[in-house]
Amino acid sequence: MQTILAKTILSKNKYPQYWFGNDYNMNLYRGCHHGCIYCDSRSECYQNDEFDIVKVKENALDILNQELMKKKHKGVVGIGAMSDSYNRFEEKEEITRGALKLIRDYRFGVSLETKSELVVRDIHLFLDIQKYNDVIVKMTITTCDDELSKIIEPHVCVSSQRFLAIQKLSEAGLFTGILMHPILPFINDTEENVIEMVRLASAHGAKFIHAYFGVTLRDRQRDYYYQKLDEYFPSLKEKYLKRYGMRYECLSKNKQHLQYVFQRECQKYGLLYKMEDIIHAYKTHQQKIEQLSLF
Ligand code: SF4
Repeated sequence: MQTILAKTILSKNKYPQYWFGNDYNMNLYRGCHHGCIYCDSRSECYQNDEFDIVKVKENALDILNQELMKKKHKGVVGIGAMSDSYNRFEEKEEITRGALKLIRDYRFGVSLETKSELVVRDIHLFLDIQKYNDVIVKMTITTCDDELSKIIEPHVCVSSQRFLAIQKLSEAGLFTGILMHPILPFINDTEENVIEMVRLASAHGAKFIHAYFGVTLRDRQRDYYYQKLDEYFPSLKEKYLKRYGMRYECLSKNKQHLQYVFQRECQKYGLLYKMEDIIHAYKTHQQKIEQLSLF
């Protein structure tokens, strides 16, 4: 594993209402080896030429300690947007675990996203943080088909294992749910997938699903995606080129129908799906637990 030095860790999020109420964002590692074929973090604008090689920011915890100490607003810290913080080095390095301990000690909140079942290792830390501030744990799952997940997200646990991780987080009393994006045109944008995803989410104790019925493609990230399409889905690249050209946002041609089915199914199972409702619910989650314990 390679190491690098970071200058800063926390960055302020100007628009918390658009992404799970995150007041700050941070990435403790640079790069990610989970290999998702659609990963936007491969794009040129992020200037990471060796994206698949994970580099640990070896001074991350010292800097984070200094930064949290100085912040007056004890807001929610977002983890994992550009790099999954539960990569295979985390088991030994415990950088994410160290960051959660600092977040707990300084009484900030946390909003974490991952595809790894390793997240359940730190349930006790999320519960500690939840005593004083807000916690939301998001698991990205895009297909209920394990065989397909092995192709599109090849180096992380399969979808069914991620559902089990959600169940453990939820049973422990954490506010948890699913990021169902991207939904890839011509691959997992089917009514059956959406219906089964919502059913499984509910069956495993998720409180919400947030969906995006399309994928964004640009520069070298598009090249990588098309290379993988050629490898696993013969002649699909040609279909993409015909339908989307060089467009950045490639929405499913079934988007409207899928959106309708998705909302209908979420309502049936009582799952939240609108960003503002999810934010409101997790920011009042601890209050509700306290009220219930009074009864
Ligand atoms: S887990 Fe996230 S950061 Fe890592 S490759 Fe997949 S999409 Fe990219």
